[in-house]
Amino acid sequence: MQLSGSCHCGAVKFTVESRTPYPYMRCYCSICRKTAGGGGYAINIMGETKTLEVKGKKNLSVYRVKLKRGKHSEARRNFCRKCGSALWVWDPRWGHWIYPFASAIDTKLPKPRETQHILLNYAPSWVEVPRGKAHPHFREFPRESIEGWHRRRGLFEDGVP
Ligand SMILES: [Zn+2]
Repeated sequence: MQLSGSCHCGAVKFTVESRTPYPYMRCYCSICRKTAGGGGYAINIMGETKTLEVKGKKNLSVYRVKLKRGKHSEARRNFCRKCGSALWVWDPRWGHWIYPFASAIDTKLPKPRETQHILLNYAPSWVEVPRGKAHPHFREFPRESIEGWHRRRGLFEDGVP
């Protein structure tokens, strides 16, 4: 499906095709939390980079996390330089995918029946993480990919033009 997204002030708008539009994954890592997740987590979805179209590119800014020994993470966290809205993550190591934050998407997303809670090793103590069958917990990354999760449920959208 085609997803439309924007920052809060409207200086950046974008569209991207996604075959995996279910916002089922909540990431509690410190980077997502600080840059995009006021509730203690950010929700990442996935689209196809070659379909990305951006209006207001000049208003984009990119944050690359500084790693140990002064190196920078490959992941590019794109945000609006005017209003600070976190928009998407793009990483050249798997550059054909792009990871918009669900919070930036204006299109009505399908509601997942299951929500995975990932990187819980980095969740702060104040976050109440939902429990139960529909809320699997992962200390680090789950083995299953975002595409795998959609395929297993018959939710992967084939034949997107
Ligand atoms: Zn903005």
